[in-house]
Amino acid sequence: MKFICDVMLGKLAKYLRIAGIDTEYSRANTQPRLIKTAEEEHRILLTRRREMTDFNISAPCYFVNSNYPPEQFQEVLSHFNISSDISQFFTVCLLCNRPLIKVDKTVISGKVPEYVFITINDFSQCPCCKKIYWKGTHYNNMARRLNRLISQSDVLNSA
Ligand SMILES: [Zn+2]
Repeated sequence: MKFICDVMLGKLAKYLRIAGIDTEYSRANTQPRLIKTAEEEHRILLTRRREMTDFNISAPCYFVNSNYPPEQFQEVLSHFNISSDISQFFTVCLLCNRPLIKVDKTVISGKVPEYVFITINDFSQCPCCKKIYWKGTHYNNMARRLNRLISQSDVLNSA
């Protein structure tokens, strides 16, 4: 399942990407461009504009009710019955939505802080923007947070 978020849902897009869900988002996306991308790439359009769901567009469109990004994330998971777990977290670039590629430690020598290089062994990199990802403190905090949100939305789902 692939998504595209409108300009009002930047934080939701980030949550979905962290969870490893293919989500297109750009602040530059105008309404016609959103619709065009959704249709061409078969993405579900997530929007906060009520009137968007009234347009005659061929791409599926979902109006996100919640104002609050963590709740929006749960709402989307519940609505579309999506399951995500920790093995999928941080598998797409948070900046460009490209799948990350595992890289050998020797390749990123000098490109990450020294303590990270010494203590971490698994690194991945975005083929597009070259950003390097690793499972450090920030990762662990985000993963815990996301896990909590996902398990809560499972409860919503089965209710
Ligand atoms: Zn990237």
